[in-house]
Amino acid sequence: MPQLPEIGWNILRELLTSPLPPDLRQKVETLKKAYEVLYHEYSKDFLTGLYNRRSFEEELVKMVELSRREETPFTLFLLDIDHFKRINDTYGHEIGDQVLAGVGRTLLRTLRKTDFAARYGGEEFAVILPGLGFYRGMGVARRIKAALESLKFTTPRGTVSITVSIGGAVFRPDYRLGPKEFLREVDQLLYAAKNLGRRTIVFKPELEPHTEGLTLEERALLFRKDEKE
Ligand code: GH3
Ligand code: MG
Ligand code: MG
Repeated sequence: MPQLPEIGWNILRELLTSPLPPDLRQKVETLKKAYEVLYHEYSKDFLTGLYNRRSFEEELVKMVELSRREETPFTLFLLDIDHFKRINDTYGHEIGDQVLAGVGRTLLRTLRKTDFAARYGGEEFAVILPGLGFYRGMGVARRIKAALESLKFTTPRGTVSITVSIGGAVFRPDYRLGPKEFLREVDQLLYAAKNLGRRTIVFKPELEPHTEGLTLEERALLFRKDEKE
């Protein structure tokens, strides 16, 4: 079942491809423009220009479906600014906002068009890398971490820079995990990175045993233990 905004969008497009009296066409075109503005507000985060949490959760569901259908993996990582509260406390909320906007710009600049970046919480970001497995995913996480940690924000009270913690994992098409459980796993990896002292990346290559190439019976045997639990 498509999301309601998608249905609305399709109706507008359908109307514009059918013959309409000129005054009505103009009204529908205005409606389409208004719809674009509203959709932008609905799906994007105002401060950073990245997607918002709602879009991220929808995207993650779509990615899991796509991964299973196309039999391709994808990488998800969550990134959290270390001791961000200190920046707000020391330099003020406005500087904190500038840092968040700078992180958003850097993510957009560093990632490819097909990648997906969202502001997931206050100072927490989520990145989805379609088609990327462990090594390439980890490579992107390293590149982003280095780019963010080299940023310098000039303030009246001196220069501010940040460090970040990242937790990430690869979703494989044969995983039994759903989007929610996968997100929970990755969140725990971010938590592990924080516990390791921050400014670090924790990526887990495997969340479940490999079942590619196994028959259904063999898979059932492999998971028999947890099914009894
Ligand atoms: P940790 O290293 O454990 O992540 O510590 P932290 O200080 O980054 O994390 P904590 O969760 O204690 O604090 C997050 C802070 O982020 C607190 C909150 O005021 C700030 N914050 C959340 N959203 C915004 C925002 O939109 N603008 C600004 N300036 N600050 C924000
Ligand atoms: Mg933080
Ligand atoms: Mg946080």
